[in-house]
Amino acid sequence: MQAALAAMAAHSVILSAYSSHTLFSQIQTPITHPTLHSSFHGVSLKVPVKSQSQSISVAAAPKPLTVVAATKKAVAVLKGNSSVEGVATLTQEDDGPTTVNVRITGLTPGPHGFHLHEFGDTTNGCISTGAHFNPQSLTHGAPEDEIRHAGDLGNIVANADGVAEATIVDSQIPLTGPNAVIGRALVVHELEDDLGKGRHELSLSTGNAGGRLACGKQEI
Ligand SMILES: [Zn+2]
Repeated sequence: MQAALAAMAAHSVILSAYSSHTLFSQIQTPITHPTLHSSFHGVSLKVPVKSQSQSISVAAAPKPLTVVAATKKAVAVLKGNSSVEGVATLTQEDDGPTTVNVRITGLTPGPHGFHLHEFGDTTNGCISTGAHFNPQSLTHGAPEDEIRHAGDLGNIVANADGVAEATIVDSQIPLTGPNAVIGRALVVHELEDDLGKGRHELSLSTGNAGGRLACGKQEI
């Protein structure tokens, strides 16, 4: 640390010998990296030499702030005790909604509940992934409902060949932050999710979507 300070001081002393124009040019050099633009706006340098009057202010020319979009990604490989298997890819731009691209094969034709469960633990098969991810302690619902589990992604529909492909865009399954879904599991179910409206005793907890055919944990 002291060595660094000494180096900085030495550097500053050298800089103070130049005109402000030269100083400006030298400071501008690292700005060419677009992600550093905002760090160098209005830099004011206090030169740590005896004469405090040699304080140099550098007013950087206004430059457009370059916003670098951060795309977060995760992937889940779904497997189970049957021939049902698939892959889900999750992407999120900054704090926007998460897009899930999923392709599952080996299903019976028709709708199948598709949920994000609480745990990524598959040591006891898909059953150890726990219940639907539900950080707000609400009841089960449809993805578009206000009252729903965060993990309620509705149904995916398999075609006559048993292949279900879907793109789901959802705001309750972020990849970072306190309710991040990394490390939790996606599960595809045996039956259709009734979206909480089936009046079955399980409608408001699981959508009565039946057994868990395949599951997989989101990995970065
Ligand atoms: Zn649910």
